[in-house]
Amino acid sequence: MRLPKRSIPKWLVLLVLLAEVGLLGVAVVSHKMEGGSYDGVTLCYPFRGPVQMFDSTLSDSAAMLTRTHEAVHARQCREMGAVANFFTRVTTKGRLRLESQAYCAQAMQEVSWGAKPSAVFDRIVEELAEVAIGRSYGKVDAAGIREIMTRECPGLSAPGSPPA
Ligand SMILES: [Zn+2]
Repeated sequence: MRLPKRSIPKWLVLLVLLAEVGLLGVAVVSHKMEGGSYDGVTLCYPFRGPVQMFDSTLSDSAAMLTRTHEAVHARQCREMGAVANFFTRVTTKGRLRLESQAYCAQAMQEVSWGAKPSAVFDRIVEELAEVAIGRSYGKVDAAGIREIMTRECPGLSAPGSPPA
């Protein structure tokens, strides 16, 4: 008896295996806390989609900001798919773009609570430098980060918002 010939490409099998062992489970990590643990993590798997984990000891406001931020990553995962998400995050520019969108949602929340937009903008640019540098390929300087953040978050950095 002959088995039907399989037509699944080897690269696809490899990709799925990598995803299953977590190598391609795109770790979307934000807010490194003191001590090295994380406030929230979104993993983006092929087929399964986003899987999220949160630190349950966060204060209410910190938990809300973290969930707002990670919700954007979950949406990116669903919209782009895990493979595109992974390859976008490999590059510093791609990673900065996706993180800017997540930080933007979080920032608008903070502004709605009364935070000063320009101060939030500056803090996020600093955090973005930490999130992206050394974790992906390519170089973006501080001015480049500001530019990406301005483009991805026009609400926060709209002309007319007073400088810090
Ligand atoms: Zn993030």
